[in-house]
Amino acid sequence: MTQTKTTDYEITEDYEITDYGIDNADYFQGHGTSFTRYNHAVLGCGDTYAEALDDALDSAAQMGFDIELETADLPEQPANNVESAWEYHCQHCEEAEHDQCESNIYYYVGLRWN
Ligand SMILES: [Zn+2]
Repeated sequence: MTQTKTTDYEITEDYEITDYGIDNADYFQGHGTSFTRYNHAVLGCGDTYAEALDDALDSAAQMGFDIELETADLPEQPANNVESAWEYHCQHCEEAEHDQCESNIYYYVGLRWN
């Protein structure tokens, strides 16, 4: 994929984060703008809150938006959830070794903005 034009990011501070926590990709309902006041929505996934939020911010950037997070919402804030989807897998999986496991468990963070 080639991108020839320089992207002008639209900067916004009007956003909402939904911390879905750890869920199974097979059952996850998805994340949209229905019944909200927001025009855009993306869903990020990763091993932790920080990874999932980074993923969501990446997707927003690809759509041309630069979302200015408040300090408390930044992924690296210690107050934010540090649960790991992989650790969750290891606690609930019946296998003794997890080398061969394919986990469908991810941490999900939804992002909506205008
Ligand atoms: Zn396992």
